[in-house]
Amino acid sequence: DPRPITGTTSTTCGYCGVGCTLNVQTRGAEVAAITPALDGPVNRGHACVKGRFAHGFLRADDRLDTPLTRSDRSGPLRRTTWAEAIGYAADELARIRDRHGAQSIGVICSARATNEENYLAQKFARVVLGTNNIDNCSRLCHAPSAAGLTRSLGFAGGTNTMDDIDRADCILLAGANPTEAHPVVGARITQRVLAGAKLIVIDPRRTGLADLADVHIQARPGSNVAVFNALAHLLITHGCIDRDFLAERTTGLTELTELVKDYHPGRVADIADVPQNPLREAGRLFGEAQRPIIVYGLGVTEHMHGTDGVRTLVNLALLRGAIGTDGCCGVLPLRGQNNVQGASDMGALPDLLPGYQPLTNDAARNRFSDVWNSPVPPHPGLRIPQMFDAACAGELRALYVIGEDVAASDPNTEHVRKALASCELLICHDLFPSETARVADIVFPAASFLEKDGTFVNFDRRFQRVRPAVAPPAGVRTDFDIIAGVARAMGADLGCVTPSDAMDECARVAPMFAGISHRRLDLAGPLHWPCPDRGKPGQAVLYLERFATGDGRAHLAARPYLPPGEAPDADYPFVLVTGRRLTHYNTGSMTRRTPDIDLTPRESLDLHPHDAAAMGVQTGGTVEVRSRRGTVCLTVTVTDDTAPGTAFCDFHFPHAPVNTLTSARTDEDTGCPEYKITAVAIRPV
Ligand code: SF4
Repeated sequence: DPRPITGTTSTTCGYCGVGCTLNVQTRGAEVAAITPALDGPVNRGHACVKGRFAHGFLRADDRLDTPLTRSDRSGPLRRTTWAEAIGYAADELARIRDRHGAQSIGVICSARATNEENYLAQKFARVVLGTNNIDNCSRLCHAPSAAGLTRSLGFAGGTNTMDDIDRADCILLAGANPTEAHPVVGARITQRVLAGAKLIVIDPRRTGLADLADVHIQARPGSNVAVFNALAHLLITHGCIDRDFLAERTTGLTELTELVKDYHPGRVADIADVPQNPLREAGRLFGEAQRPIIVYGLGVTEHMHGTDGVRTLVNLALLRGAIGTDGCCGVLPLRGQNNVQGASDMGALPDLLPGYQPLTNDAARNRFSDVWNSPVPPHPGLRIPQMFDAACAGELRALYVIGEDVAASDPNTEHVRKALASCELLICHDLFPSETARVADIVFPAASFLEKDGTFVNFDRRFQRVRPAVAPPAGVRTDFDIIAGVARAMGADLGCVTPSDAMDECARVAPMFAGISHRRLDLAGPLHWPCPDRGKPGQAVLYLERFATGDGRAHLAARPYLPPGEAPDADYPFVLVTGRRLTHYNTGSMTRRTPDIDLTPRESLDLHPHDAAAMGVQTGGTVEVRSRRGTVCLTVTVTDDTAPGTAFCDFHFPHAPVNTLTSARTDEDTGCPEYKITAVAIRPV
């Protein structure tokens, strides 16, 4: 296009948790190109294919451009005006609240929404609706990270920064395939390994980084805790632990030492179905490293014992004195979506107020009540899976879903659909006619990250600015404006006119964000939390003086291996693992509508050659995959990336709804679904 570029906007990628800084070039009202920012503090001029083409979906033919409502469930959604849709939503929410009580309404917010939108959503739930039934999609991915890191260390975030990957001499990568799901991190790890760092990969799949690794522990899905305890066993028995650090700054070493006596490599090799040698070699490499770092993903968290997985993994860094010490490289959880960290930071959670202040803490709750000029209900609300259960039981009557396609993304789809159908009122915000929007009573057309103002927090706790490169299409509004509009129609003033106002208010009520404002971010650039002081930078590396626990010490966790919630058996002999592909983001609603990156136009069920041969199927063939909850037909790719007996599938395509299959089992601590293990039967069709 020979026409000149008329503007460039610096903003933050809205896809994965890396949070790359992107320069969005515009021609008039259209995005012309996106380039990675050379001075991007996280990405330093790098971006993956998703980020570089993260605008193709903006003008998709089926982009929603007006509110839709239906007056009865059997009728079609009809186009309507904003005034009518907002009035309808407000009237119905007020009616259900007044007739059935505030606890009959739930709000689900999203990592796709900015911090300010999440802040406003939880305030709307607590102040206007009067309920703590507010949760966000981190429930489905990294809730065990928040719980595990908080219990072990104090804060619900990673301990160090992306830059510390560059200094590590040994990288332990567990349950993550950053080459595809967090490509800029994947590239950074590759660079570091090529420069000489050792790499240990713990993953049931043979990923690109597993091929590059010094050791690949291809452990059976669900055996993480046993493997991490085996590594702790090796570190302790070989004396590769920092005894001074452990004595001064931790608790629980005696209990952990006693527990891991049972986790010798011989026993764990059987549990994890791996040879002993990789376990021993991984213990040696991690034990000899001067600057070890742990990077992990959803392969650790999305399990029935996901919180135990996080805590037993953190043990390894603590045993080496690799957290909270000079030059340490720490532990980094790779957040799946860009603002998973921020959505929880902002208190879109049923038990925590913004800044992780417990709802049950009277002083904290009173501070919010004073600033919000409204009492905050004291009892914790429902988590997302509990909301669906309550809807099916007739106790939850209205669900307000902001930016999530729960009918596609959440496990056990049939149960979710039954829950949605059981509600008297289903409201959603989306860019497109999603699976959830198709069954909603009210659909509000929402702006994308390229069309709105605010902030995201990335995987290393960095607040970064999100700026509108273009205006939303006519008829589309931001989540922020929609929530504020519904609140106003219910007679409430949420008190924040702009996203900047919301961030300022959040800084007043959440001490750990007190130093953060849009103005400061615009002037000085990104800030790590905690950032309690406007005159000081945020803390990029945590715990250099003390851990943020009650006693100031880190708590080693003596947690036993427990079997997963669902194991293969004679009827369902395979384990299905779900995950992502490089070119797609979650349910694919944006990336499938981006022509330049639609390199993967179909789902793929990866099967090991032995299993494929036994079934007589080849790449491109179709199989029926059946679990205890449903049946789906999927297209096969034969590859030895998966182990025999294990199949892997993405969840990006509505015509291949794999969550029809996935388990309703959840992490016992946090309610995070066990997406990574579903027992299935597979047969060719
Ligand atoms: Fe960066 Fe992730 Fe966006 Fe790719 S998807 S450009 S790695 S933030």
